Amino acid sequence: MKIAPPQVWRNKKFMYKLIASKCRKCGNIDFPYSPYCTKCGNSDVEKTELSGKGKLVTFTVSYQSREGFEKSLPSIIGLIRLDEGAEIIAPIVDTEIDKLKENARVEATLRRVYTDSYNGLIQYGIKFRVVEE
Ligand SMILES: [Zn+2]
Repeated sequence: MKIAPPQVWRNKKFMYKLIASKCRKCGNIDFPYSPYCTKCGNSDVEKTELSGKGKLVTFTVSYQSREGFEKSLPSIIGLIRLDEGAEIIAPIVDTEIDKLKENARVEATLRRVYTDSYNGLIQYGIKFRVVEE
């Protein structure tokens, strides 16, 4: 099934939220959403939306990419600890490599991943950028 661009655009907000699960027993947060708690095994969990804010634990810089993604080089991949406690590995954008440092504050941002040349749809994904305190 093809999805028309306006529909994709309308759903964008919901498709790219950071939805996690929160354990009603121990309070552990799992991202992405899990139907059971990975800490205590409890299946009584609720959906919770994460703030998208956190800090950069560590990062690596890649100078290689798969075909078609050369324009985005070098790419920075970060390990981010979100304020709610969950950890996520995601691309870091809008930041000069020599200004990156561990423990920098970061926030989620929606960015273009690629444009599908067949139907013209733009694929979006969640990336992170460094923010001032
Ligand atoms: Zn739990």
